[in-house]
Amino acid sequence: MITLDLTLPDCRYPIHIGRGLLDRAGELMAPVLPQPRALIVTNDVVAPLYLARLEASLAAAGIQTRAVVLPDGESHKDWQTLNLIFDALIDMRAERKTTLVALGGGVVGDMTGFAAACWQRGAPFVQVPTTLLAQVDSSVGGKTAINHPAGKNMIGAFWQPRLVLADIALLDSLPPRELSAGLAEVFKYGLIGDAGFFDWCEAQAAALMARDADALIHAVRRSCEMKADIVGQDEKEQGVRALLNLGHTFGHAIEAGLGFGVWLHGEAVAAGMLLAADLAAQLGRQSAGELDRIEALLAAVQLPVRAPDLGLDAWLSLMGHDKKVDGGHLRFVVPDGIGRASVESDVDADALARVLGGRFI
Ligand code: NAD
Ligand code: MG
Repeated sequence: MITLDLTLPDCRYPIHIGRGLLDRAGELMAPVLPQPRALIVTNDVVAPLYLARLEASLAAAGIQTRAVVLPDGESHKDWQTLNLIFDALIDMRAERKTTLVALGGGVVGDMTGFAAACWQRGAPFVQVPTTLLAQVDSSVGGKTAINHPAGKNMIGAFWQPRLVLADIALLDSLPPRELSAGLAEVFKYGLIGDAGFFDWCEAQAAALMARDADALIHAVRRSCEMKADIVGQDEKEQGVRALLNLGHTFGHAIEAGLGFGVWLHGEAVAAGMLLAADLAAQLGRQSAGELDRIEALLAAVQLPVRAPDLGLDAWLSLMGHDKKVDGGHLRFVVPDGIGRASVESDVDADALARVLGGRFI
């Protein structure tokens, strides 16, 4: 087991990464729970696979649990489903010290975290991420939210978990399309901040797709190290944390424009990263060779390298709803070659229109 630490001005928590950690969850969690009582939040896909093992492990450590099983999917990341968590907390007479445990992908993690932030003005929570995307990205850093029909993650809070437990073995059951979606966020870390890691991803693309344990552990570890480092510098996204949004302004427009759940988040981010790279090329910051490398790596793991054509007006309106808008100006994270990125706050409208005039399916 590898343990990383995320250190913030007023809290610090461990991220455990390894194979077979689910059965040690009780032992690993017990020290961080303020009372030996927890509500496990999961969904109807993950529950049959892993809930009983998590319950058994927590019971063996003397932790009493209840579970709430939400309907699966991004389309249920909404108020109505969030309320099921509060109903379960009321029903079990949970207190402010009762811990919420998220067992699932990013949707379960984001909703559980938001519920924990709201429950009695803030209850402890633990992340047990079960998708690659959640292990490398959403479970770390404390962004929690639900969607509004008009925009992704519009309603949420910054609320940090007490512990993240990433068991690589849980990825064995992940559908191939979900594995690829997680890899989009892995590659993002290389693009924004570590050219050597991007090289490693190119060399290991086949091993990652074959779910080689060593390759996956390295990918999760390096991603979490980079995320922990960035969030440690800028918890509330006033500066460097914005770089993690590479591809996300375009990507969120794709997700909202097509309807949540039609494209996976990671798929939308993949196409969005290429649009951001196109924009970088328009601004003279990306060479054709670098663009080709990014496209080839995404294609090697079966990620989309073309976006759906939403129409210029819809693109602009959907991106205008994104949280990356600042005082009415669209802000984009653009790669500067491979291994560096910056935030561009005044993107030339013609350059943007040229980008949005191409690279469509
Ligand atoms: P998801 O939670 O919908 O999971 C994907 C699918 O895989 C679901 O059907 C799920 O039930 C299933 N699944 C989960 N674990 C499984 C397993 N081990 N075996 C088999 N099936 C499994 O999607 P996701 O990609 O994990 O997360 C996407 C969400 O994360 C989005 O809502 C996005 O906004 C959010 N996100 C948040 C942050 C953040 O910082 N908070 C960062 C990135 C993404
Ligand atoms: Mg993301």
